[in-house]
Amino acid sequence: MIDVGLIGFGLAGRAFHAQVIRATPGLRLAAILQRHGNEAAEKYPDVRVVRSVEELLDIRDIRLVVIATPNETHAPIARQCLEAGRDVVVDKPFTTTLKEAAGLVELARRRGRLITVYQNRRYDGDFQAIRQIVSDGTLGRIVRFETNYDRFRPDLKPGAWRERVSPGSGILFDLAPHMIDHALVLFGLPETKDAIGSSSWDPSGPVQSAIEGIKRAVPGMTVMADVCLCEYTDHGHCGVIVERNGVKDVDNDETLPLLMKQAVSFAAAGADFVAPSDMMDGRVGAIRRALDERSLTEVGIMAYSAKFASGFYGPFREAAESSPQFGDRRTYQMDPANIREALREMELDAEEGADMIMVKPALSYLDVIRAARERFEHPIAAYNVSGEYSMVKAAAERGWIDGPRVMNEILTSIKRAGADLIITYHALEFAESVAG
Ligand SMILES: [Zn+2]
Repeated sequence: MIDVGLIGFGLAGRAFHAQVIRATPGLRLAAILQRHGNEAAEKYPDVRVVRSVEELLDIRDIRLVVIATPNETHAPIARQCLEAGRDVVVDKPFTTTLKEAAGLVELARRRGRLITVYQNRRYDGDFQAIRQIVSDGTLGRIVRFETNYDRFRPDLKPGAWRERVSPGSGILFDLAPHMIDHALVLFGLPETKDAIGSSSWDPSGPVQSAIEGIKRAVPGMTVMADVCLCEYTDHGHCGVIVERNGVKDVDNDETLPLLMKQAVSFAAAGADFVAPSDMMDGRVGAIRRALDERSLTEVGIMAYSAKFASGFYGPFREAAESSPQFGDRRTYQMDPANIREALREMELDAEEGADMIMVKPALSYLDVIRAARERFEHPIAAYNVSGEYSMVKAAAERGWIDGPRVMNEILTSIKRAGADLIITYHALEFAESVAG
């Protein structure tokens, strides 16, 4: 019988490791380290609960330590355990850098101890099944593979270590180790905003650094970057503001060179796709030219072609702090009543070189998605926006509707209308529901 010490009683420790250890013949859960709170003591009255790593390592009989703590602490705690002569299992991700990982493996070898990483999803039935049918040729020769795993909340949770800026935080370390992601869409929230959104082409800006970091960590990942000024301007509009005859409005032609700068900057940082969401006339062609001139010909454009002036964007604007400070975006976003204008804009974007065409929002515009599907050969993307998502969540919370059922119905309707690609905050939940 091997006595096991479990370090960490968060979601992974509580819902997973403690139960697996208890259910595994030959292992005995001897102690749990929970720094704060009494859940461990309440749930496992027969298990000793300690408050520090030192206290846990003082228990002589413990031979194996399972580490399920915030990602950045994996390496120092694992080191401490190995030095105290224990075998170690570390929850994924093993460490936040390759150097730390190599250091631990070397230390374990010197001390004659075992260390390994627990990568649960690699053993899931669905993952195994996919691997099987790919390797035995059931699917034939695969020429293209698409998958997505989006964030499902538009706001940050205060105090959550996964959502702070630090080496082991973020969706890449949190979710990617379950099943490496293949495409991400990035939106920027800069430190400073000004009238022309100049922080958006800063090579060390949030989106540029994220692209570089992601490409370093997971070179095969497809990264898309949203191109627009509204997240970066102090007035919250998507372009440059000029005043004519006492009326302030966005100037289309003065905005184009700035969007080109931004798109080139994201592409130079390594983005595979840029996704202009600004709705200025001629921007797809201008961005295509700017990219081609700098030999960034491989970088694709996913155009927000039919982006309607909509009340459904509220929760995202709140999260991105990008509500217009005066007026609204109706002069450059589309009139919801006008489908022919939407089709004309899509036509223009396609002519100017868009590789993918998007309709946004999705739910009140299913007829536009259908019309686009029938008219164009391009992949059609539909953006199921924050307000559409929040309505479902709010009504489900009050018990007015069956949330999962309505989510299914909505996503099915978008697909039925003809979308090839759905960008939605429901993605994680939906993926879990179909995975069973
Ligand atoms: Zn915008």
